[in-house]
Amino acid sequence: MDKERIRFAVRELLIAIGEDPDREGLKETPERISNMYSEIFAGLETSPQSVLKYFGESCTEEMVVVKDIPFYSMCEHHLLPFYGTASICYIPAPGRLLGLSKLARVVDICAKKPQLQERLGAEIVNILENDAQAIGAAILIKAEHLCMNMRGIRKPGTKTVTTCFAGIFKTDDKARKEALQLLSLEKD
Ligand SMILES: [Zn+2]
Repeated sequence: MDKERIRFAVRELLIAIGEDPDREGLKETPERISNMYSEIFAGLETSPQSVLKYFGESCTEEMVVVKDIPFYSMCEHHLLPFYGTASICYIPAPGRLLGLSKLARVVDICAKKPQLQERLGAEIVNILENDAQAIGAAILIKAEHLCMNMRGIRKPGTKTVTTCFAGIFKTDDKARKEALQLLSLEKD
């Protein structure tokens, strides 16, 4: 990530909106944003595949459900945050059971870049299907988009819900229904 260029661009942006980038409160802003961007866009520099580690045990092709993994991402259309939770359901292939924290890491890496909610789900499901070779993978993402809250139609509190299915959850209606039911259950 080119921090120097980010600093320059943020300074230009401040001038372009009619601000004085040298006034007290804004002086350090380009520096702060360039530091922050390397954190919130860290997913551009990390491969989610690199964090996958498996437990060798041959599980019995049962569903594994991890609910409400919190994430923060940036909408690529407006560079404003969208954030919420991702719930994942997958059926591991024999010897391909993922540590639960690995799923959270994958969500985090895929979220930390200019992103779309729909693509975030598709990327995670693809990793589970193609890299982890899961028999089936499903995700349900609920998120609030600041570009909807702060501008345009201004509907604060609106949640966007998206789903994505792969493998057996794509081909088998009964399995998909079951996964969706598990993923949509509200917290106790
Ligand atoms: Zn947006």
